Amino acid sequence: MSQNNNKPVVTRIAPSPTGDPHVGTAYMSLFDYIYAKQQGGKFILRIEDTDQKRYNPESEKRVIDALKWLGLSPDESPEIGGPNAPYRQTERLELYQKYAQQLLDSGHAYRAFETPEELEQIREDLQKRGLGQGYDGRAKALSKEESEQRAASGEAFVIRLATPGEGETIIKDALRGEVRIPNSEVPDAVLMKSDGIPTYHLAVVVDDHVMGVTHAVRGEEWLPTAPVHVLLYKAFGWEEPIWIHMPLLKNADGKKLSKRRDDASLDSYKKQGIVPEALLNYLATMGWSMPDGREFFSLKDMTKFFSFERISLGGSVFDMKRLRHYNAHYLRDVLDLETVAERAKPYLKSAGYDWGDEDYLLDVVDVLLPRIETLAELAEQSDYFFNDDFSYSEDAKRRLEAGQKHLEALERELSRLDFFDYDDVDDAMREYVKSESVKMGEVMMPLRAALTGTTQAPGVTDLAVILGKAKTLERIGRAISYLEAGLPDDKPQKPKKEEDAGANT
Ligand code: GLU
Repeated sequence: MSQNNNKPVVTRIAPSPTGDPHVGTAYMSLFDYIYAKQQGGKFILRIEDTDQKRYNPESEKRVIDALKWLGLSPDESPEIGGPNAPYRQTERLELYQKYAQQLLDSGHAYRAFETPEELEQIREDLQKRGLGQGYDGRAKALSKEESEQRAASGEAFVIRLATPGEGETIIKDALRGEVRIPNSEVPDAVLMKSDGIPTYHLAVVVDDHVMGVTHAVRGEEWLPTAPVHVLLYKAFGWEEPIWIHMPLLKNADGKKLSKRRDDASLDSYKKQGIVPEALLNYLATMGWSMPDGREFFSLKDMTKFFSFERISLGGSVFDMKRLRHYNAHYLRDVLDLETVAERAKPYLKSAGYDWGDEDYLLDVVDVLLPRIETLAELAEQSDYFFNDDFSYSEDAKRRLEAGQKHLEALERELSRLDFFDYDDVDDAMREYVKSESVKMGEVMMPLRAALTGTTQAPGVTDLAVILGKAKTLERIGRAISYLEAGLPDDKPQKPKKEEDAGANT
């Protein structure tokens, strides 16, 4: 892609702080970040908070936290500052006023004094005539003197872009080539509202210019308004950034992923226990591909091989199942066990579990990893490792009933073991199965049910070894008491000490 006059690359993410950080923000930030890093440039976070009606005060912090979580740290932001501070548009109002005045002076913008009622009338009239512009540009005809005078007398006005009535505006989009829009279709957009606050159009252009943004990466939903921005660059006589309108992430119905309809919130993914590495890798594959077609790759590799040329425009369907598949891969095969355990801690904590010993936690995580795709699932499935008072599922109860005699025998066999490592436990069970001429499953299933209260759990020898001899025997004893009591109660009393034969041997 041609460099913007060989200036150092500057990209930016410019979210409006309106609520939950959206996955689209992560998607754009990923490409901004990657490209800036690859080119030795800068990535800026700017908060576009000029729409005060939709402003949500917590949202800025949530965006900053989300970028931190993702590891896409900006080089400049409202939090860390930088040479282009301030990074909140409402703190830059004087700048926009200065540039709006410049446009008024050069005749590229004009004041419009219509009241809301008049505007409504104009809109209706235009609609009746099949014109969708919303405003007919009538205030353009006001003389400079009248405009100045009415403004000086305190009459409310907005400042509008004076679009050329003829010709066309060309958006040179790096992904699409030249997109040509007839100027007759470009509205005289409001640049400055009557309260002196700029609209997005003026603020984004002024800020991208003064912050030296070379590549404006944003969603393709902004393409229809891009002519307003291109006309503004021309009016100011500024060099345009390279426009990159990225394909939108879609839901399964082919519609734009929306916070209201779909699971599109970064906070929600975090809560579900998606790890950021997996999310970024998955997002990277939406509309972009590695030259060698690899499915899994790190941010570092992506930085090495990234080019906007490999973006495809179809738009990708964001599929939670695929994201979970990526997540499982990262948990099982990419991140080391210690890291996964560390990341699992907040999920376990919020489930109320206390893991005590770090090695015990590592064992638990290790044995559950093949069975889970997210950290939240890991916490959900680990109950019996941290809670002795679990209940028995219906399936587990059936298994216990069918296997009472084996449980009693295993309690005896296992209590005799001096060492309780994998091979010892495995040998003891195999010997028992052989001596009784029964199938392995007939013994394993009741034991699994006794140790976990479920029938959906990891290998029973692993379970016994992780739980340790004392706990294994205690749980077998508990299951036997439950069976002996013959009660439908699925939360039997803990076995009394004397019944807990051999538990402490
Ligand atoms: N404030 C706009 C948004 O919320 C930024 C669009 C752009 O990047 O130009 O997405």
